[in-house]
Amino acid sequence: MLLTITTTHSPATDLGYLLHKNPSRAQVFELAFGQAHVFYPEATDERCTAALLLDVDPVALVRSRKSGPESFALGQYVNERPYVASSFMSNAISRLFGTAMGGRCSGKPELANLEIPLTAKLSVVPCRGGEDLLRRLFEPLGYSVTAEGYPLDEKFADWGNSAFFTVSLEKTCRLSELLTHLYILIPVLDDEKHYWVGEDEVEKLLKHGEDWLSSHPEKDLIVKRYLRHRRNLMSQAMAQLLEEDTPNPDEVQEVAAQEEWVIEERISLNEQRMGAVVSALKSAGAKRVLDLGCGEGKLIGALLRDKEFVEIVGVDVSYRTLEKAQDKLRLEKMAPMQRERIKLLHGSLIYRDKRLEGYDAAAVIEVIEHMDLARLAAFERVLFEFAKPGTVVLTTPNVEYNVKWESLPAGKMRHRDHRFEWTREEFADWAHGICERFGYSVRFLPIGPEDAEIGAPTQMAVFEKT
Ligand code: SAH
Repeated sequence: MLLTITTTHSPATDLGYLLHKNPSRAQVFELAFGQAHVFYPEATDERCTAALLLDVDPVALVRSRKSGPESFALGQYVNERPYVASSFMSNAISRLFGTAMGGRCSGKPELANLEIPLTAKLSVVPCRGGEDLLRRLFEPLGYSVTAEGYPLDEKFADWGNSAFFTVSLEKTCRLSELLTHLYILIPVLDDEKHYWVGEDEVEKLLKHGEDWLSSHPEKDLIVKRYLRHRRNLMSQAMAQLLEEDTPNPDEVQEVAAQEEWVIEERISLNEQRMGAVVSALKSAGAKRVLDLGCGEGKLIGALLRDKEFVEIVGVDVSYRTLEKAQDKLRLEKMAPMQRERIKLLHGSLIYRDKRLEGYDAAAVIEVIEHMDLARLAAFERVLFEFAKPGTVVLTTPNVEYNVKWESLPAGKMRHRDHRFEWTREEFADWAHGICERFGYSVRFLPIGPEDAEIGAPTQMAVFEKT
């Protein structure tokens, strides 16, 4: 993947000062996802071009992948990621040209503020939304845009064009402006998974977008795609951007309502579930808690943030998942006091396990539906007869709600590995059976938006030892 930046400003070799990279030297930088090379294919007084070549290592990408498998196995290794401009390019721009992007030039400070003729060329950009979107993003910012598209296959013209373009952007402006626009808009065009979307991305977006984003006609799309549909980050960023350009109080009120809507309507079910579970555990007064089938540790993370939970034990049958939990929770880097609060145990919930005895509470979040019904009886005894915590908070999908998900074909379950999904009545029958056999009482709570007829997407039972 290649990005070149050319200027005809005189002397053109000033570009070397601006980028803090010497035109006479080729340099190599090691990045988390591969290598970046910076070199100058031409460097004369009349015309100078700096090239940033990314050599992305697809195998390292797979190894460092944080989330679970989401594409077929070969697709993880053989894909277009190493060859197209994506968030990796943005990452490389900020790592290698960060000073220039920040508008600083130590060698010749006056250069940084100079508007100079610049052309950026991206060898291949995946552009979800086609040439039209490309123009809608860059033309309002004053660029003249040239795009060369490619057919999917030259031999089969009727397959049409691919989403890939060679793009050239021309503008007379400060170099910092050009780099900032590329930094934000390349991932927006690509609209693929970012490898670095996190809380600090809101700050990055606002910092780099402060002068131009709030008045950009495609502001919504830019924010949405840059934060890659992460709703909580998105509403945070939109609220701040809108604040900047809405002096009218009526509009401000409208924005607040809209923000509320964004939060209430779109807060992810998973977050709501974690919130409901944490409050159920808190109101039971639990201090030492088991998270059975802890997966990648989302609940553990939420519990850690609350000092009331002094010991948190995650258990999972999948060792690989526990490794991921360890990474995600950054256990290795945690301060010793925090670290001591957490234990991760490898084990199966269908075998009696002495390590699980004597806890105040257990959470079993979206786990039972992953067990064969024939094994469920064993799990019931392991938890309610032997481990017997004072409180058990257990959630499972409400199958009645599945009709609401348009993308879910009728009669299909929500997850490939689900062995069953219950109606509210089936869940209640099962839970009451447990209470009778093992001496617990139970109450039920809906999680997520509740429909009068079909209930809420997730059902939660809170068992208390009697
Ligand atoms: N509680 C987590 C993960 C839910 S996915 C969350 O809400 O995010 C279900 C998890 O249960 C998976 O991590 C799976 O490995 C684990 N699991 C399934 N059967 C199990 C068993 N018999 N013993 C322990 N863990 C099990």
